[in-house]
Amino acid sequence: TQAYLGAIETAGALNAYVLATPEKALAMAKASDARYAKGEAGPLDGLPLGVKDNYAVEGVRTTAGSNILKNFVPPYESTVTSRLWGDGAVLLGKLNQDEFAMGSSTESSAFGPTVNPWRRAGSTQPLVPGGSSGGSAAAVAAHLCAGAAGTDTGGSIRQPAAFTGTVGIKPTYGRCSRWGIVAYASSLDQAGPIARSVNDAALLLRSMAGHDPKDSTSVDRAVPDYEAAVGASVKGKRIGIPREYRVDGMSPEIVALWDKGADMLRSAGAEIVDISLPHTKYALPSYYIVALAEASSNLARYDGVRYGERVPGRDIVEMYEKTRASGFGAEVRRRIMIGTYVLSAGYYDAYYLKAQKVRTLIKRDFETVFADGIDAVLAPATPSPAFGIGEKSGADPVAMYLEDVFTVTLNMAGLPGIAVPAGRSAEGLPLGLQLIGRPFGEEALFSLGQVIEE
Ligand code: GLN
Repeated sequence: TQAYLGAIETAGALNAYVLATPEKALAMAKASDARYAKGEAGPLDGLPLGVKDNYAVEGVRTTAGSNILKNFVPPYESTVTSRLWGDGAVLLGKLNQDEFAMGSSTESSAFGPTVNPWRRAGSTQPLVPGGSSGGSAAAVAAHLCAGAAGTDTGGSIRQPAAFTGTVGIKPTYGRCSRWGIVAYASSLDQAGPIARSVNDAALLLRSMAGHDPKDSTSVDRAVPDYEAAVGASVKGKRIGIPREYRVDGMSPEIVALWDKGADMLRSAGAEIVDISLPHTKYALPSYYIVALAEASSNLARYDGVRYGERVPGRDIVEMYEKTRASGFGAEVRRRIMIGTYVLSAGYYDAYYLKAQKVRTLIKRDFETVFADGIDAVLAPATPSPAFGIGEKSGADPVAMYLEDVFTVTLNMAGLPGIAVPAGRSAEGLPLGLQLIGRPFGEEALFSLGQVIEE
C-alpha cells in the first residue's frame, strides 16, 4: 500500500487519481495485516485498489467527474465497493473519468484529462487513455494500483483497457449491483474490473459480482469461481467472427490482430466460424438515443436541492437553471438536450421507441448465433489504437461517438464482454481484442481471453 501511495504521488502528471486517500488506505492495510495475523485473511486481503469516481464510498468525496458534485460526500457505500472491502481490499483513492461517464477519452472530466502512460514510439505527444474509465485504466497500466473498479455503459471498461494494454470485463447486465453507483443509463450500466491480467480480472469480478436486494435488476444467481475458469481448456468451443464488424476505415493492423486472435484460438482447439449479426450497423445510433434518453432522466435529480452544488437565483426556476448551467459541462448539457428531445411528445415514437425496437433486434441477432451453438464472438475492441489528447474532442462530437462502434452492441443486448491486450500497433501502442459471451458466460470469456492475452 505504501509503495502504491508513493507511486501515486510521483505520477501526478498522469492525472489518473482525482483523490488519493492515504490515511484511509493505511488504516485499511493495517486492519488487513491484523486479519492476516489471525488467519482470517479474505480473498483480496491487503490488495490496494483504485475506484472510479462514480462509486459512492462512504465519507469519501464522490464526484463522477462533475463540478455539480464537487463537494458531494456520500453517507453510504456502493454495494460493489463494500464487497471489495469485505474481501479485504484496500482503497487507494478515486479515479478520474469522463463527466457522468459520458465519453471515450476522459477529456470531459471537470478535473481535466487523464494522460495515457503509453506513447507512440519516438513521440512525446500525450495520448488519451480512453474513457470513460480512463483514470482506472491508466492507473492500472502505470502501476498506481493493483487493479481498479470501472463501469461500462457502452464500452467504458473495454475501450480504455484496450488503449492501455490492460484487461477489462463488462459482465452480464445484472451480474453486479448498480446500487450506489452514479447512474448514467440505468438499463446499460454495469460495474466491472480493470486489471493487469485475465487472472486478476477474474479474481476481482468474483468479489464484485452477486445479488443485491437493493438493486432489483441484479440477478440472484451463484457467482462461479472465475479464477478456476482461467486456464481451462477451450477445445471444441465455437467462436463466431461477425462479418458486420469489418467496418470501413478500420486500420489494417486491427484487421491483422483480429486474424491473429482467431489463429491463436484455433491452435488452442477452438473452432472458428463466420457469423452474421445483421443489425450491427444500427447499434451505435440506437445506443446514442437510448443512453441519452435515460441520462436526461437520471440527471434530472441534480437540481441544486438534493445533491451537490447550488447557484442561487431570484426564484426556484432560475436557481435550477443557473445550477445546472454552471454545474454540468458542455458534453453533459448536449446529451441532456438530445435525451430530452428524443423523449418529447411528437418525437418519442420516431426516435426513442424506434431505438428500443432496434435494441430488441440487436439482442435477437446474438440469440440466434448462440442458439446455433456459438459460445463466444471475437471482434476488435476499438477501431484504432489510443489517439492524441485533443484529437477527437473538437467541434464534431460524432467523431468521438464513432469510437464506440464495437463496444455498444453488447450493452444493448445485456451481454458480457472482455477486452484483452493481444498485440501492438506499428508505433508500439497496445491493441485489444474483444470477446463477447452468452448471458452469464463470463467463465468462457476468462478461458478464451487467456488464450489470446499477450
Ligand atoms: N463512450 C460511450 C458514451 O459516451 C460509453 C460510455 C460508457 O460506457 N460509460 O456513452
